[in-house]
Amino acid sequence: MRIIQEHEKCIGCGSCAAICPKYWEISDDGKARLIGAKLNGVDFELEIKKVECNQEVADACPVQCIYVKS
Ligand code: SF4
Repeated sequence: MRIIQEHEKCIGCGSCAAICPKYWEISDDGKARLIGAKLNGVDFELEIKKVECNQEVADACPVQCIYVKS
């Protein structure tokens, strides 16, 4: 499965990093960074085997810029 972040939409609230620090951190630009993700166009994408805490993160993101796709 893939985790996708529309990086531009992120408002840097920090929820993702608080809920799921294994995958998310706040970077120098004040927005969340999906650790290990690759840029695909304007979005960041990370291939993972198990969703782990990322579904919770997608549900919690206030601007809904995180997607879990199987
Ligand atoms: S929860 Fe969403 S808006 Fe908040 S820092 Fe993470 S990606 Fe950005």
